[in-house]
Amino acid sequence: MTIVSNNLKRIKPSPTIAVTTKAREMRAAGKDVIGLGAGEPDFDTPNNIKKAAIDAIEKGDTKYTAVDGTPALKKAIIEKFKRENNLDYTLDQITVGTGGKQVIYNTFMATLNKGDEVIIPAPFWVSYPDMVLLAGGKPKIIKCEEHDGFKLTPEKLKKAISKKTKWIILNSPSNPTGAGYTKEEIEKLGKVLLKNKNVFILSDDIYEHINYDNFNFFTIAQISKLKERTLTMNGVSKSYAMTGWRIGYAAGPKDIISAIRKIQSQSTSNPSSVSQAAAVEALSGEQDFIKERAEAFRKRRDFVVNSLNSINGISCLRPSGAFYVFPSCKGLLNKRTKIKNDTEFVKKLLEQSMVAVVQGSAFGLEGYFRISYATSMENLEKAMVRIKEFCESLTN
Ligand code: GLU
Repeated sequence: MTIVSNNLKRIKPSPTIAVTTKAREMRAAGKDVIGLGAGEPDFDTPNNIKKAAIDAIEKGDTKYTAVDGTPALKKAIIEKFKRENNLDYTLDQITVGTGGKQVIYNTFMATLNKGDEVIIPAPFWVSYPDMVLLAGGKPKIIKCEEHDGFKLTPEKLKKAISKKTKWIILNSPSNPTGAGYTKEEIEKLGKVLLKNKNVFILSDDIYEHINYDNFNFFTIAQISKLKERTLTMNGVSKSYAMTGWRIGYAAGPKDIISAIRKIQSQSTSNPSSVSQAAAVEALSGEQDFIKERAEAFRKRRDFVVNSLNSINGISCLRPSGAFYVFPSCKGLLNKRTKIKNDTEFVKKLLEQSMVAVVQGSAFGLEGYFRISYATSMENLEKAMVRIKEFCESLTN
């Protein structure tokens, strides 16, 4: 007999959080671990945003707010969508939650019936399938290949859709691969979705602002006929270096937004009032630093990709966004290295060389691993030396 529910037995703890926790514990025990596991900007939250939070505390904005966000924050979100994505929404089409994670979780809890399918292109962010399972749905994982840039093709999408498909998740730029879908690529997927009128689209745009090489960000709700079936999720965590503040939001059909509100009203109520005030300033204040930070990330990406590709047995694509790369370690999984799979590879890398990364299989694609380069250049330089030495030690 166990106290744990059958429902909970279907899911596992988040692997990204697990790696981050392990690295933190090892560091606390005095070990010189370099953590490339967590997907979290190393930059600090800008001062104007911190000040808005301090002002909110001093003003007494420390009480309950409307369950799914203050009118002030919803207005700032509406303006963001207009300014950056040319999308029009009204107040009742916006919801704010405790991080993008809660918004996605609530969405599935609010909309999935037993057996409903959710198409999830792999590699995927680790929490999508487990959230679907917890809500009683069925994740339908579609593997995307390295030679397609790890992106979903219209052919694969068409094949994946069934009568039971309720949602498809799109995430561009992607966690864990950094792959960014071009406007043309999204339009091609959109064409398939236009023909399948019962399918809803969850667009996870959390990495919108972290992109490189003149990548033109495009989100699927910009296809006007799909807007009414699209929930566009975003948040301040990555763009504004505010992971700990826990503010995510979404815009979409009123019935989904009000269903999410119902769940939130019976679970967490409003996201932190102080964080909401900070998020208003993030979305409405000075935005120039976003580009400057993206440029710093670009330099790190180039350094990491070049370093990885100089290692025998490792190969790595150069992605157009996010702060992740997803190199292949297949060249080192063999009898000679005595490493069978990516899970063993990352375990040994952590134990032997003190570099924490996440195994590709956690994201639904074996033979790869994810590096988050959202850390200082100094750390990255040290980490790349260690990874190189580690890989060489396997074949010598
Ligand atoms: N999204 C980040 C990551 O993938 C944060 C950790 C998490 O919530 O998974 O590392």
